[in-house]
Amino acid sequence: MKASGIIRKIDQLGRVVVPKELRNLMDIKEVCFFIDKHGFYIESFDPKVHRLAIHRTIDPLGRITIASEIRRRFNWDIGQPLEIFTEQNRIYFVEYHNFCAVCREGSKLIPVKSKHLCYSCVQELLRNKEVFISHSNRF
Ligand SMILES: [Zn+2]
Repeated sequence: MKASGIIRKIDQLGRVVVPKELRNLMDIKEVCFFIDKHGFYIESFDPKVHRLAIHRTIDPLGRITIASEIRRRFNWDIGQPLEIFTEQNRIYFVEYHNFCAVCREGSKLIPVKSKHLCYSCVQELLRNKEVFISHSNRF
């Protein structure tokens, strides 16, 4: 995958802008969505290849609506930044980690599964280790 260096945020209606340079380069108007490990990717819709896939039209301002199932699956809220990558005829939208998933602080991030936590939240978790252990015994 090639990084485009472009980051776009999910807007209030769950849409994201497909960068104009990529729209022009790949000549895409109607797209298909595919889920990937860290996000999703789109390909230009081809009715012969993508018969059963979810497809959407890019609106006049270059936006696509991200299916709510995709947003729920990755726990993406309004304002979630997505980093854009390309690979052949695909445009990838991958979660961009610029802040802590708990407190939204933006520095000293530590990856935890698919999210990132800041140093101070991780420290707090470690301080509460005894509380966690006593809770986990109940499950
Ligand atoms: Zn934090």
